[in-house]
Amino acid sequence: MTNPVEVLDKEYVWHPFTQMQQWLTAPQTVITDAEGIRLYDAEGNSYYDGVSSLWVNIHGHKRKEIDEAIKEQLGHAAHTTSLGLVSVPAAQLAQMLVQVSPKGLEKLFYSDDGATAVEIALKMAFQYWQIKGKSKKTKFITLKSAYHGDTIGAVSVGGIDLFHQVYQPMLFETYHVSSPSCYHCKLAEKASCHKECLEELENVLKEHADEIGAMIIEPLVQAAAGMLMAPEGYLKRVRELTKKYDVLLIADEVAVGFGRTGKMFACEHEGVSPDFMCISKGITGGYMPLAATLTTMEVFNAFLGTAADKRTFYHGHSYTGNQLGCAAGIASLKIFETDKVLEKMQPKIKAASKKLTDIGAMEHVGEVRQCGLIIGIELVEDKKTKKPYAWDKAMGGEVCLKARAHGLFVRPVGDVVVFMPPLCSTIEEIEDMLSILKQAIHEVTELGQSSGCDGGLF
Ligand SMILES: *Cc1c(COP(=O)(O)O)cnc(C)c1O
Repeated sequence: MTNPVEVLDKEYVWHPFTQMQQWLTAPQTVITDAEGIRLYDAEGNSYYDGVSSLWVNIHGHKRKEIDEAIKEQLGHAAHTTSLGLVSVPAAQLAQMLVQVSPKGLEKLFYSDDGATAVEIALKMAFQYWQIKGKSKKTKFITLKSAYHGDTIGAVSVGGIDLFHQVYQPMLFETYHVSSPSCYHCKLAEKASCHKECLEELENVLKEHADEIGAMIIEPLVQAAAGMLMAPEGYLKRVRELTKKYDVLLIADEVAVGFGRTGKMFACEHEGVSPDFMCISKGITGGYMPLAATLTTMEVFNAFLGTAADKRTFYHGHSYTGNQLGCAAGIASLKIFETDKVLEKMQPKIKAASKKLTDIGAMEHVGEVRQCGLIIGIELVEDKKTKKPYAWDKAMGGEVCLKARAHGLFVRPVGDVVVFMPPLCSTIEEIEDMLSILKQAIHEVTELGQSSGCDGGLF
């Protein structure tokens, strides 16, 4: 018998990134509870939350300190506007975030999700150059296969054709340069493209810097592209080149921030201080929608003036600086300290890579990519030639459905199975989750088992 809530869902809800025709005909999982790194469904089954509830959860679900902080905040105020008023948790969290951010980022603008944090960085960078009298610096550079969110500005600096192509006529013009981590470059045996990509970037900067305001980048990992990892030193060099040509750098740490890579922010791995940093997903420990765009005093000061100077940043959202979200954010940052989250991650990262060696050797695994606890497992039809599976086989989705049947919830991007567990997962749990994943890959790619769903679920 179908769960009545599933019936309601199918009657009324349109899900993100989902072909609803498949959704409506396939059985769905109704999640009623979550605790620690486990999700519980209406039938009493439990699943590991192997993708941190889409890359947001950090310290687990129903984490006492965050629950308490939100309840405590509810005793004061759930939400008051940031337009013209100060809120206690928003001010306190801003200080804490600036303190843990790369040097030079000293001011913080709140919003609600990753896409809005990116929109804000784009608009601030654009307006900065208008104020500075360099009104031709209106364009942006981005990487091919980049993902920065789904609003129109963020899509304009995006480069995933499957998601973005249809909106082309709505988008502003952007310079797209080759990504140094492009898996398909490697397929074509152009493994040395790191240097070529930097040359290409420098050529664009050399020729067009007078019309380019900023470059946006996902530091170290192009996440939605399928966990594509940049070679060491690439980010640092991008920072040097953008400085040299007077182009602002926007680091989109929405996916990689808050410890996922093993450091608080990915930029720290290469000692990079961007001009803007966008953060969201992990900011509240995965509890509430909240985001922030950090920037430098140089940018902030440029916007100062009288009302008549017309330098005000006219941007805001109804829930900007939400008090409950900020209270959760403070509690989450405190847990990083009390639990020594980053220090404890190191052996977990090692344990994961050890387990991944076996998975990497499997017959239909083309490549395993890892940065901290961000892991992508690329499935291929032919290991030698790296020939991909036919798109309509939806092998990534099939493997994820199989893993779910074995008690692990993961979600792929195309044929890349993404594994991104909450940072609080223990070594034993990480090993157990990866064993399940290995079994699922075995059953689907080697034994040919299928979910029987039309094209998988994804
Ligand atoms: C998820 C993501 C976004 C968008 O964040 P939303 O909260 O989904 O709007 C932006 N940039 C990167 C790198 C992301 O991974």
